[in-house]
Amino acid sequence: MGSYYNSNTVLWLNGAFVKATEAKMDFYSQSFHYGYAVFEGIRSYSTSAAETKIFKPVDHYDRLQKSALALNMPYTWNTGELIEITYELLRKNNLQNAYIRPVVYAPANMKFDKNHESFLVIEAWEMDPFLGEKLLRVMTSSFQRPNPKGFKINAKATGHYVNSILASQEAKANGYDEALLLDMNNNVAEAPGANLFYEKDGKLFTPPPGNILPGITRATVLEICNKSGIVVTEKFFSVDELKKADAAFFCGTAAEVIGIGSLDDTKFPSDWNKTVSKQIRDAYKHLVIEKEVPDTFHKTGEAYKNRTQNVEEKMA
Ligand code: PMP
Repeated sequence: MGSYYNSNTVLWLNGAFVKATEAKMDFYSQSFHYGYAVFEGIRSYSTSAAETKIFKPVDHYDRLQKSALALNMPYTWNTGELIEITYELLRKNNLQNAYIRPVVYAPANMKFDKNHESFLVIEAWEMDPFLGEKLLRVMTSSFQRPNPKGFKINAKATGHYVNSILASQEAKANGYDEALLLDMNNNVAEAPGANLFYEKDGKLFTPPPGNILPGITRATVLEICNKSGIVVTEKFFSVDELKKADAAFFCGTAAEVIGIGSLDDTKFPSDWNKTVSKQIRDAYKHLVIEKEVPDTFHKTGEAYKNRTQNVEEKMA
């Protein structure tokens, strides 16, 4: 179990900074009984200029609002205001490398009807950067991702995470590090808390939005690829296709970009350190701490473009 707070920790609760040990929530809340709440996972980093910066805070708080509205939850906060509050929360807790968790929740209500107000808590705790680079052993889950005809799959809703917990626990009980879930059509969807990309011949592939939470890290990876000329295709694909990949990775706010060594019994054959995926991992690591991406990186895409051209020329 993590140590998320101690007797000095403060959180922000409905307009005030409160000691975590003294904060109260209503046990009659509709959120507690039915998993009806929305949340975010945000990271702050101590940057190369030794400043503490929240990574993409606008994207995260905008998504929190969209998630609440998708679930018909009243939302009265403003992104700019929440970003200021979050910086203040980090200062009050003396946090630099942190994980930030806002949760919008409902008042006491045992019925299924709409509420007239929502509440907001923002918590933060220390999250040291991951050291080392152990590749994940991943298991194809027996659990599917929630069907978008049953849930607002684009919303980051607490109730969806029962699915994530079941899948992750199943994978760990079977000796794996993490699960990979398929969608209702048996195409590859995502991890319990991260999106997936695979690499084949220097090109990247990732499932399109629709049956996944379209992550902010996923969008950042797409931006990195666009900038450096790496070709990315969004498409549906099967586990069999994924198993023919050279390399693969998960990406998410907490996981950042993390390589997958194997899926079930299939090992991805490329040397991780020589993959485009690893270069994207490094570029992401630089981006979050606002450090210049090394010049060689921008040449990666070009090198692959030339390589693809050569292959195409050979085929012609
Ligand atoms: N999918 C799921 C199910 C998630 O919980 C997360 C983490 N929020 C992601 C993908 C990645 O999203 P992001 O990059 O915005 O953290």
